[in-house]
Amino acid sequence: MLSLDNSYNEVDLKDFDRKARQLSKLESITYCVEPKFDGGSISLIYENDFLTRGATRGNGVAGDDVTTNVRQIRSLPLSARFSDYGLQQVEIRGEVLMNKNSFKKYNDALIEKGLAPLANPRNAAAGTLRIKDPQEVRRRNLEAFVYHISDYTLLPGKEIPEALKTHAGSLKLLWELGFKSPVNEMRVFDGIDLVIKYCLEFEEERDNLPYEIDGMVVKVNDFDLQDQLGMTSHHPRWAMAFKFKARQGTSKLLNVEYQVGRTGSITPVAKIEPVFIGGVTVSSISLFNEDVIREKDLMVGDTVLVERAGDVIPYIVKPLAELRSGDEKKIKFPHHCPVCESKLFKEEGEAAWRCVNIECPAQVAERMIHYVSKDALDIKGFGEANIKKFFELGLLKDIPGIYKLDFDAIGKLEGFGAKSIEKLKDAIEQSKNQPLHRLIFALGIRFVGETTAKVLAQKVNHLLDLKQLTQEELQTLEDIGPKVAGSIVHFLAMLII
Ligand SMILES: [Zn+2]
Repeated sequence: MLSLDNSYNEVDLKDFDRKARQLSKLESITYCVEPKFDGGSISLIYENDFLTRGATRGNGVAGDDVTTNVRQIRSLPLSARFSDYGLQQVEIRGEVLMNKNSFKKYNDALIEKGLAPLANPRNAAAGTLRIKDPQEVRRRNLEAFVYHISDYTLLPGKEIPEALKTHAGSLKLLWELGFKSPVNEMRVFDGIDLVIKYCLEFEEERDNLPYEIDGMVVKVNDFDLQDQLGMTSHHPRWAMAFKFKARQGTSKLLNVEYQVGRTGSITPVAKIEPVFIGGVTVSSISLFNEDVIREKDLMVGDTVLVERAGDVIPYIVKPLAELRSGDEKKIKFPHHCPVCESKLFKEEGEAAWRCVNIECPAQVAERMIHYVSKDALDIKGFGEANIKKFFELGLLKDIPGIYKLDFDAIGKLEGFGAKSIEKLKDAIEQSKNQPLHRLIFALGIRFVGETTAKVLAQKVNHLLDLKQLTQEELQTLEDIGPKVAGSIVHFLAMLII
């Protein structure tokens, strides 16, 4: 698979256009512009309308055979009627992605297990393609976008279809055959000026897309002209990548604070000198667990390289060790909970230290925040800020307290008019009608995500019925192993309703 030459600004693109016009002796060239997906590159082969092979990019010459994994991608058709266009064998290039939503869910699950999350969706997608467990690949919800027909053979007696005379035509053909190709995002322009304008406009939009892109691809639209322009020793002369601005910056690590999560896990958070990256000021970055600090060899006082990809959480790539003065200080992970001062514990095979005091105020507040959140009972008008406020003022002590709020006292607080109180009352009332699986998920039992909550809700009619189930009985349910079952039994034993 070939790599494209990169451009970073208007001047580079104009230069690319000038060279293409000189070589072709044309006054103006028609280009097709589309987003440059930021995932793992794949090559697919369809023979007689069936997907027969999928490979990664590898070193550009030989990639890994990932046919079994590629078949797990729902947005990729296992068969497509290429024969309708007179095509016998087709080789397609594309990009495998994990969309921002799936990426967040995947990372949340890693964090819940006390593991460090993946840095970006690109690593997540490329890494998933190489794992040896096809069912796990399916669970991770990869998507595939295809953007190039790189080779084909015709059925006997057939001629090249009209669609395969231009790049835009080939993208439409793929779309019509059931592939995801960027037909909605692509534009065809005459001349480079409109191409540049579209690239710059699209850069503004990148955060609104459901998946990551790191630039745009500009291609000569006409395939004959592409052939005429040919290649340099490294890159095609008929295509150019326009890279968006890098989302990296350097800052100084000022301090590390420790946050207590809903299940007691202690998360170190780096406080850095505010740095402006990709349109946002970053001053606080999660370091996830002690191992991350050790692996990256971070010290307080370090100059650090920070990256932020889209609306993905920012992360520290590495410290710039060569800039150390000798005054940097080792980071000492605490032995006691920063909130309730209980001794911290670490289970074997886990990366996170935990506060195991179930009444730890930080955990109680986090559990309530989770309880009212959108994917749980979705009590609008509550939010993190209000939960924390009521909790600190002693107006709310635990989850049952949500249904016994003293609205007279809340009405006296600043910012709470009659209207907002009515809204909150309504939302709390409505939460009683939420389905059981949401309630189970909302309780924030360790290892019980939305899927497991649904499995449990199917088994019983009432939350309290769960208490009747033994660990062995729980383990007979789908996707519930000893660890999850143990956590459920442990939690319900402490649940006093
Ligand atoms: Zn604690």
